[in-house]
Amino acid sequence: MANEIVNKEQLHALFLSGMPLKEIAKRMNSKPGSIRTMIYHERQRNPYEWPHRIHYPGKPKELPLMMHSYECTECATRFAVEDYEDVDHSATVCPICQSNQHLQDGNYGRFIPTSVTRRAEA
Ligand SMILES: [Zn+2]
Repeated sequence: MANEIVNKEQLHALFLSGMPLKEIAKRMNSKPGSIRTMIYHERQRNPYEWPHRIHYPGKPKELPLMMHSYECTECATRFAVEDYEDVDHSATVCPICQSNQHLQDGNYGRFIPTSVTRRAEA
Protein backbone atom coordinates (compact mmCIF):
# COMPACT_ATOMS: atom_id res chain seq x y z
CA MET A 1 0.00 0.00 0.00
CA ALA A 2 2.82 2.39 0.89
CA ASN A 3 4.48 1.74 -2.44
CA GLU A 4 1.32 2.56 -4.26
CA ILE A 5 1.13 5.97 -2.59
CA VAL A 6 4.77 6.73 -3.40
CA ASN A 7 4.24 5.72 -6.99
CA LYS A 8 1.22 7.93 -7.31
CA GLU A 9 3.13 10.88 -5.96
CA GLN A 10 5.94 10.21 -8.39
CA LEU A 11 3.47 9.74 -11.19
CA HIS A 12 1.76 12.98 -10.30
CA ALA A 13 5.04 14.89 -10.17
CA LEU A 14 6.16 13.50 -13.53
CA PHE A 15 2.74 14.10 -15.00
CA LEU A 16 2.79 17.74 -13.95
CA SER A 17 6.32 18.18 -15.28
CA GLY A 18 4.90 17.60 -18.74
CA MET A 19 6.91 14.47 -19.32
CA PRO A 20 5.43 12.24 -22.04
CA LEU A 21 3.69 9.09 -20.89
CA LYS A 22 6.31 7.03 -22.64
CA GLU A 23 9.06 8.63 -20.53
CA ILE A 24 7.01 8.42 -17.35
CA ALA A 25 6.48 4.73 -18.05
CA LYS A 26 10.21 4.22 -18.50
CA ARG A 27 10.97 6.06 -15.24
CA MET A 28 8.44 4.01 -13.35
CA ASN A 29 9.23 0.68 -14.98
CA SER A 30 5.76 0.56 -16.36
CA LYS A 31 4.01 0.69 -19.70
CA PRO A 32 2.50 3.81 -21.30
CA GLY A 33 -0.86 2.04 -21.39
CA SER A 34 -0.75 1.34 -17.65
CA ILE A 35 0.33 4.90 -16.90
CA ARG A 36 -2.50 6.22 -19.04
CA THR A 37 -4.96 4.01 -17.17
CA MET A 38 -3.60 5.14 -13.79
CA ILE A 39 -3.92 8.79 -14.79
CA TYR A 40 -7.41 8.15 -16.06
CA HIS A 41 -8.49 6.60 -12.77
CA GLU A 42 -6.78 9.25 -10.66
CA ARG A 43 -8.45 11.93 -12.76
CA GLN A 44 -11.86 10.35 -12.20
CA ARG A 45 -11.28 10.63 -8.48
CA ASN A 46 -9.54 13.95 -8.43
CA PRO A 47 -10.00 15.89 -11.66
CA TYR A 48 -8.39 19.10 -10.41
CA GLU A 49 -5.20 17.35 -9.41
CA TRP A 50 -4.87 15.77 -12.81
CA PRO A 51 -5.59 18.46 -15.33
CA HIS A 52 -5.68 17.55 -18.95
CA ARG A 53 -2.38 18.47 -20.48
CA ILE A 54 -2.31 21.51 -22.67
CA HIS A 55 -5.00 20.70 -25.15
CA TYR A 56 -6.68 23.47 -26.99
CA PRO A 57 -9.51 22.23 -29.15
CA GLY A 58 -8.92 25.03 -31.66
CA LYS A 59 -5.13 24.91 -31.20
CA PRO A 60 -4.54 28.67 -31.28
CA LYS A 61 -1.12 29.33 -32.76
CA GLU A 62 -0.11 31.75 -30.03
CA LEU A 63 0.06 29.03 -27.44
CA PRO A 64 2.88 26.57 -27.02
CA LEU A 65 2.03 22.95 -27.68
CA MET A 66 3.36 19.87 -26.04
CA MET A 67 5.31 18.13 -28.73
CA HIS A 68 7.53 15.11 -28.98
CA SER A 69 10.07 15.23 -31.75
CA TYR A 70 11.41 12.30 -33.68
CA GLU A 71 14.12 11.87 -36.23
CA CYS A 72 14.03 9.27 -38.96
CA THR A 73 17.57 8.07 -39.61
CA GLU A 74 16.49 6.54 -42.92
CA CYS A 75 15.46 9.76 -44.65
CA ALA A 76 16.87 12.29 -42.14
CA THR A 77 13.44 13.76 -41.57
CA ARG A 78 12.71 15.46 -38.31
CA PHE A 79 9.13 15.78 -37.28
CA ALA A 80 7.14 16.33 -34.16
CA VAL A 81 3.86 14.95 -32.98
CA GLU A 82 1.58 16.49 -30.45
CA ASP A 83 2.17 14.92 -27.12
CA TYR A 84 -1.07 14.53 -25.27
CA GLU A 85 -1.78 11.60 -23.07
CA ASP A 86 -4.24 10.15 -25.51
CA VAL A 87 -1.69 10.10 -28.30
CA ASP A 88 -0.37 6.61 -28.89
CA HIS A 89 3.29 7.13 -29.67
CA SER A 90 3.80 3.49 -30.45
CA ALA A 91 1.76 4.20 -33.58
CA THR A 92 4.06 7.03 -34.68
CA VAL A 93 5.62 6.52 -38.10
CA CYS A 94 7.92 8.60 -40.27
CA PRO A 95 5.74 10.78 -42.51
CA ILE A 96 8.07 10.03 -45.45
CA CYS A 97 8.85 6.34 -44.98
CA GLN A 98 5.53 5.48 -43.31
CA SER A 99 7.57 3.28 -41.01
CA ASN A 100 8.76 3.43 -37.42
CA GLN A 101 11.82 1.27 -38.02
CA HIS A 102 14.30 4.12 -38.17
CA LEU A 103 12.74 6.51 -35.72
CA GLN A 104 14.82 7.95 -32.95
CA ASP A 105 13.38 9.83 -30.06
CA GLY A 106 14.19 13.47 -30.00
CA ASN A 107 13.25 16.08 -27.50
CA TYR A 108 9.92 16.71 -25.99
CA GLY A 109 8.40 19.68 -24.31
CA ARG A 110 6.65 22.85 -25.15
CA PHE A 111 7.29 24.03 -28.64
CA ILE A 112 6.28 27.41 -29.88
CA PRO A 113 5.06 27.36 -33.46
CA THR A 114 7.68 28.71 -35.88
CA SER A 115 5.41 31.44 -37.17
CA VAL A 116 5.11 32.90 -33.70
CA THR A 117 8.87 32.72 -33.11
CA ARG A 118 9.54 34.53 -36.35
CA ARG A 119 7.03 37.19 -35.52
CA ALA A 120 8.58 37.68 -32.10
CA GLU A 121 12.06 38.08 -33.58
CA ALA A 122 10.96 40.57 -36.24
ZN1 LIG B 1 11.86 8.32 -42.92
